[in-house]
Amino acid sequence: MDLELGGKRALVLGASRGIGMAIAKSLAAEGAVVFAAARSIDKIEGWANGMGNVHPIELDLSAIQAVDTVIDRLLTEGGVDIVVNNGGGPPPGTAEATERAAWITNFEAMAANLFHLTTRLLPPMKERGWGRVISVTSSGVEQPIPNLALSNGIRAALVGWSKTLAGEVAADGITVNVVMPGRIHTQRVDELDAAAAKRTQKDVAEVAANSRAAIPVGRYGKPEEFADVVTFLASARASYVTGSRIRIDGGAIKSI
Ligand code: NAD
Repeated sequence: MDLELGGKRALVLGASRGIGMAIAKSLAAEGAVVFAAARSIDKIEGWANGMGNVHPIELDLSAIQAVDTVIDRLLTEGGVDIVVNNGGGPPPGTAEATERAAWITNFEAMAANLFHLTTRLLPPMKERGWGRVISVTSSGVEQPIPNLALSNGIRAALVGWSKTLAGEVAADGITVNVVMPGRIHTQRVDELDAAAAKRTQKDVAEVAANSRAAIPVGRYGKPEEFADVVTFLASARASYVTGSRIRIDGGAIKSI
C-alpha cells in the first residue's frame, strides 16, 4: 500500500517521547517532512539525530505566544499538510477536588491552544485541497477513568471540537479524526503505575500485571502500534475516514 506521504509536511506535537515521538518517527520513515515539537528540543534532537527530514521545534503548548510564533514561521513556509495534536497528560484527581484554576490552565494547554493552532494552519490546507488533523485523546473519552477528571473532561471537549471541524472542512479534502489510546507502554504509563503502586501500597509489578490483565489482548500496546494507525490516518489511503474516533486499546474499552 502506497501511503503517499513522501514530501508531505507534518507538525507533530508532544514529540520528545512516547506516543508523539513514535508518530513523528513513523511519518518520517514514510518520507514526510516532520516538524517535531515539544518543550525540550534536546530530547527531540536526541532521537532525530541524523534524520534529515525531522526538524525539532521548541514549543510549550501552554504558552500561546510561543504557539503563535511557531505557526507564523510554518505559515511563511506554506504551512503543513498534517497536524498531530498531542501533548502531556494532566495531573490526576477527582472531579470533586479539581479546582477552577486547574480546569482553566489545563484547558488552555490541552484544548484551546490546540484548537487555535489547528485553525491557523487550515487555510493552506484548504488551498491545496488536502489536509489531515489527528488528535490524540484517551480511552477516557468513551469510558471515563476514575481519578482522571481533568483528562476525562477536557478530552471530551476535543472530541466535540474535532467532530464539528470535520463537518466544516470535509469538502476541502481535509479529514479530522480522534485517536484514543488505551494503555500504550510509554514512560508516562510507567510513571502512572509507579504512582498507583505508591498510593495503594502495592508492588509496582503487581499493579502493572493487574492493569495488563484488564486488557483483552493481555498486554500494553507498543507506541509503534499506535503510530501505525495514526500514520494510516495521515495518509492518502484514509481519505474517506473523517469525524471518527478510533480506539487503539487492545479491546480495553468495554462498550460497543
Ligand atoms: P508522555 O508523557 O510520555 O509524552 C507527552 C509528550 O508531550 C512529551 O513529549 C512531553 O514533553 C510533551 N509535552 C508535555 N507537556 C507539554 C507542553 N506543555 N507543551 C509541549 N509539549 C508538552 O505521554 P504519552 O504516553 O506519550 O501520551 C501522549 C498523550 O496521550 C498524553 O496526553 C497522555 O495523557 C495521553 N494518553 C496516553 C495513554 C498511554 O497509554 N500512553 C493513555 C491515555 C492517554
